[in-house]
Amino acid sequence: MTSLDIKGLEDRYELPVYPRRNLILVRGKGARLYDDQGREYIDCASNVGVSNIGHAREEVAKAIYEQYLTLSNCYGLFYNPVRAMLSERLISLSPQGLKRVFYCNSGAEAIEGAIKFARATTGKTEIIAAMRGFHGKTFGALAATWGEEYRKPFIPMMPGTKHVPFNNFEKLSEVVSEETAAILLEPVQGEGGVRVGDKPYFEKVRRLCRERGILLILDEVQTGFGRTGTLFACEQFVEPDMLCVAKSLAGGIPMGAVLCSNAIRVPVKSHTSTFGGNPLACAAALVSLEIIVRERLPERAKELGEYFLNGLRAIQSDKIREVRGLGLMLGIELKEKAGPYVQKLMDRGILVLLAGPTVIRLLPPLIITAEEIDRVLSVMKEALI
Ligand SMILES: *Cc1c(COP(=O)(O)O)cnc(C)c1O
Repeated sequence: MTSLDIKGLEDRYELPVYPRRNLILVRGKGARLYDDQGREYIDCASNVGVSNIGHAREEVAKAIYEQYLTLSNCYGLFYNPVRAMLSERLISLSPQGLKRVFYCNSGAEAIEGAIKFARATTGKTEIIAAMRGFHGKTFGALAATWGEEYRKPFIPMMPGTKHVPFNNFEKLSEVVSEETAAILLEPVQGEGGVRVGDKPYFEKVRRLCRERGILLILDEVQTGFGRTGTLFACEQFVEPDMLCVAKSLAGGIPMGAVLCSNAIRVPVKSHTSTFGGNPLACAAALVSLEIIVRERLPERAKELGEYFLNGLRAIQSDKIREVRGLGLMLGIELKEKAGPYVQKLMDRGILVLLAGPTVIRLLPPLIITAEEIDRVLSVMKEALI
């Protein structure tokens, strides 16, 4: 197939919901991606934070292959050894108070589950989320998501959702009511512009939740699995009652999960998923977690993140308003629209993401090398001057 054929078929047959870039990706290895012409790119997007362990890991490929030949699907009605092993491993790696896991297949589904569990547990209905927050696009998650452009075509939203400014405890405490079931926050807002939470803010929210019988849900779909310098970002903030994960949980295979404290109570049969916890995804997640732990990827993200952040801060450019981030989750806020620079970087062999109109977001695989980061920095310098 020629490039024209590929684009032609996708443009002709798929609903045009993605603002497509003019690039056909066919292959990946480590922190590199390759287009159909064999051109190489340094990946600073990781499929929006999916490929923390890098592309095309042989260990994951083997695990998936073997698991598929053994048993790929096993509905939750039945017990399964791979799922049992993953559950034990995940809970052992999770913050102390999180004791149980619910499996699903995506980030939005994890949020959807957490919202339902919050209502079932508290008997209350209201969810408070943050402005600029992003939690996915299914109806429950969408109601908690901030972006007007995501919500407007689909009103009415799920009732009982309120938005308050992020990192502002006073505004939050003003809207909490007797009906508040949960507060839902990202430790570092991803889509909303790579905005790092204030620890004192999170500590106050944690205390308020305890005092008022409100559940704290942290959305770590993007920040999870080493991205911010610890296995979960919440280790640097506070412990939630529910922790939502997905993206990089299973090394690139679709999977989501809600990690729950013992306070969470859900009636049997009330929330289930056909593919949730299927052995194929569980096998991929087990190996991926092993790689993250063995290769000390959270520590690596911390060290290389600081190196990357300092390198970006050293770029002298009038176009940059601020550089910020945590671990290998980095944002460069420009004084102008960032779209043209994303294109410029792509033309020079670097793939990055947007996070709002003026922010360039970098989410490289955590196995990226210092040399690759140097290369990105030098191209970035060229592109931003
Ligand atoms: C990507 C993302 C989601 C949604 O995940 P999907 O798998 O696309 O449904 C939710 N929350 C955050 C913080 C995300 O980054």
